[in-house]
Amino acid sequence: MKRQRIVFSLVIFWFREVTSAFYVKAGDMSDYSTNNKRIKLFQSAADDHDHYYGKLEPGRLEELKQMEAELSAQLAAVRREKLSALRSRPLKIGIVGFGRFGQFIAQTFAKHATVVATSRSDYTDLAAGLGVTYVPLSDPVAFLAHDLDVIVFAVSILSFRSTLEEFAPFLDQDLRRRKELTGGDVRGPLIVDVLSVKEHARKVMIELLPEECDILCTHPMFGPDSGKNGWNHLNFVYEKTRIDKIILDAAQSSSGDPEQLKEATGGKMHSVHEDSEAHVEGVDRMERFLSIWEEEGCRMVPMSCKEHDEYAANSQFVTHLIGRVLGSQGLTETPIDTSGFQSVLKLVGSTTADSFDLFYGLYKYNENSLETIAKLQEAMHKVVSKLHAKEEQEQQKSVAAECVDVKVTVANEANQPTQTKRTGS
Ligand code: NAP
Repeated sequence: MKRQRIVFSLVIFWFREVTSAFYVKAGDMSDYSTNNKRIKLFQSAADDHDHYYGKLEPGRLEELKQMEAELSAQLAAVRREKLSALRSRPLKIGIVGFGRFGQFIAQTFAKHATVVATSRSDYTDLAAGLGVTYVPLSDPVAFLAHDLDVIVFAVSILSFRSTLEEFAPFLDQDLRRRKELTGGDVRGPLIVDVLSVKEHARKVMIELLPEECDILCTHPMFGPDSGKNGWNHLNFVYEKTRIDKIILDAAQSSSGDPEQLKEATGGKMHSVHEDSEAHVEGVDRMERFLSIWEEEGCRMVPMSCKEHDEYAANSQFVTHLIGRVLGSQGLTETPIDTSGFQSVLKLVGSTTADSFDLFYGLYKYNENSLETIAKLQEAMHKVVSKLHAKEEQEQQKSVAAECVDVKVTVANEANQPTQTKRTGS
């Protein structure tokens, strides 16, 4: 009942906000007075919701259903308009690292954007099959000549620093080329990473990328296995790290007002509507990129890289660790599998499908992972000790019971010397 009330109040509040903003903005005063009555009707409902819950007036349920239908129609219209706005200005996205994960995201990006990929190995045919242009990593100039809005780094955690070290001078060179062409200030592409460890990625990007490049740190908490049927409701973690040369306060990314961005040093606040063309453009481009994940149904989670790594060590890393440990035990199907055991085999399958480099990267570049291993070892020791202790208790009980038995027998023999002796224990 309490939950129903809260939901009802929220719907009424939201509707009130949406309808009043909508009609006042539209400036259509003739409609406004009629609609004002409707707003009043809903307002009175909101103010008096206890009354409606006490006894539902005849026809009220119909009215509520009607309101609900109107709201969802309005929401659908907003979503359609947003989608068409996105599609009218599709981004040009470059992907560096066209391995398992790079291909997986490229497939979905291709629905929303023009995609150009590059990698160490030759993926020309595979890329063509996904509607993606392919350029070898040995030719970064040709890759950058595509004038990309966004470049996503999807290389292994282990090779991230070295790849960026080799790539960054070409970004610098491309910026100089464009500066000469335009004669004015130029902005680099937005650089995004998808690494499963975040503090390392953040540090390396701030250190190595030209300051004309904005930075967005992300971690899609899913992959080719868990996301094979779509991205709906899957978690997408992100931190807006740098916009228009300003490094943003990472902690604020997870808890503050999303319309306000705070500088990492000095704490100066920047509104997303700030009166600086470069800032507004940077925010807009970041939002357009994030909208792709949103449109695919991801649950968007703004979070600092530091906080991400703390959580991930005790969730993602421990999952991979257990999967690898059980995998190395050589578990296989049996004719009598329980559903619990089938889940275990699934875990082993999905974690070992990822490269060992990825697992090693999770271990090496998340400073919390060593503690996770120690905790797991301790927990294993605790559980096994508990088993041993129980077994010992049982043995002591049975020895004690045997002693009592022997004592009783001896006593019986002493008291009744003529009785036949008990045989066995
Ligand atoms: P991975 O083994 O972590 O990375 C493979 C990719 O790294 C390939 O594109 C490979 O290029 C490239 N690479 C490896 N060593 C390289 C080097 N020395 N120089 C240049 N490139 C190198 O497997 P992955 O699953 O594709 O993961 C890629 C990234 O996505 C990782 O950072 C991972 O943390 C992140 N991620 C993965 C998942 C997932 O479920 N798999 C989910 C979220 C995020 P070539 O193929 O050309 O050799």
